Amino acid sequence: MATVSPYYDDLRSKPEVIDPPQNEETVDVGEHICDTAQSVLKPNVAVSSSVRELLECPVCLNAMYPPIHQCLNGHTLCSGCKPKVHNRCPSCRHELGNIRCLALEKVAASLELPCKYQSFGCMGIYPYYSKLKHESQCVFRPYNRPYAGSECLVIGDIPYLVDHLKDDHKVDMHNGSTFNHRYVKSNPHEVENATWMLTVFSCFRQYFCLHFEAFQLGMAPVYIAFLRFMGDDNEAKNYSYSLEVGGTGRKMLWQGVPRSIRDSHRKVRDSFDGLIIQRNMALFFSGGDRKELKLRITGRIWKEQ
Ligand SMILES: [Zn+2]
Ligand SMILES: [Zn+2]
Ligand SMILES: [Zn+2]
Ligand SMILES: [Zn+2]
Repeated sequence: MATVSPYYDDLRSKPEVIDPPQNEETVDVGEHICDTAQSVLKPNVAVSSSVRELLECPVCLNAMYPPIHQCLNGHTLCSGCKPKVHNRCPSCRHELGNIRCLALEKVAASLELPCKYQSFGCMGIYPYYSKLKHESQCVFRPYNRPYAGSECLVIGDIPYLVDHLKDDHKVDMHNGSTFNHRYVKSNPHEVENATWMLTVFSCFRQYFCLHFEAFQLGMAPVYIAFLRFMGDDNEAKNYSYSLEVGGTGRKMLWQGVPRSIRDSHRKVRDSFDGLIIQRNMALFFSGGDRKELKLRITGRIWKEQ
C-alpha cells in the first residue's frame, strides 16, 4: 500500500467529515461555480440555467437569497428552510452548523437574468437580487382572471382576458360609458353569497367590469355593486364611476374610483368599496310583495381631467 498518495491518506483519516459520495457532490458543485465565472464573461443560456439550478433551494425549490447556508459537506440551503430542518443537512443528514456559502452568494450577485415575464413582453434584464422586486411590480406581469365565483384560474394580459371572458364565460359585453343593468332573483332568500354574472364595459379604449353579488356583512345579508378597471392601479385612478339604485321615489347613489383588477374581487368586496344595499332596502326597491329581487342599477364611467 505504498502507492497510496498522502492526499488520499489524509482523506481516509477524517471519514466523518468527507466520505466519498458526498465528496463527489462537492466536486460537482465546484465545477458549476467555474461555469458561472465564464457565464459572467460570456452569457450562455445552458450555463446560466445550471447556475440557476444551483441557486435553487433543495428543500423548498425557491431561488435562494443571502444568507445562503451550507453544511460541512457543502450542501446548500435557503435561510427560510434552515430553521425547519432541525440543524441537520437535508442532503447528507450531517449537522448543519452556521456556515454561510459566501461563494454562491457572490456568484448570485454577479448574475443578470431576464424578467420572468419575458414571454409577456418584458425585455428587462435584472441583477439576481433585484429581479424579484422588479417582478413583483413588472407592468407586464399577467393579471389574474377577474371572474369571481368560479374556479377559473386563467391569467394573461388584458386583451387575452377580455377574449377569455367573452368566449369562455359568455359575459355580457357593453360598449359605452353609461349603463343600465337589471339583477333579478326569484327567491332572494336563497341567494346569500351568490354572485351574478360579470358585465364588461368598453369605453375610453379601456375595459371595466361590474360586479354584483350578495354576501353576509356580519349578521346582515347585503348586496354590493362595484366596478373594477382592467389595468393597473395608477391608470384606474384616472377614472370615476357612479352607481344608482332605487324605486318608489327613493334612491341610493354611490360614486367611486374603479379598483384595478390587480386587487382581487374579494379584497374590494371586503373593503366595502362599492354601493352596499341592505337586503331589506333591496327588496323595497324591488317593489311587489318582497318575494323577488328586481334591482335596476344605472351607472356611468367618466375620465377625470
Ligand atoms: Zn428553502
Ligand atoms: Zn450536507
Ligand atoms: Zn419585467
Ligand atoms: Zn375563465
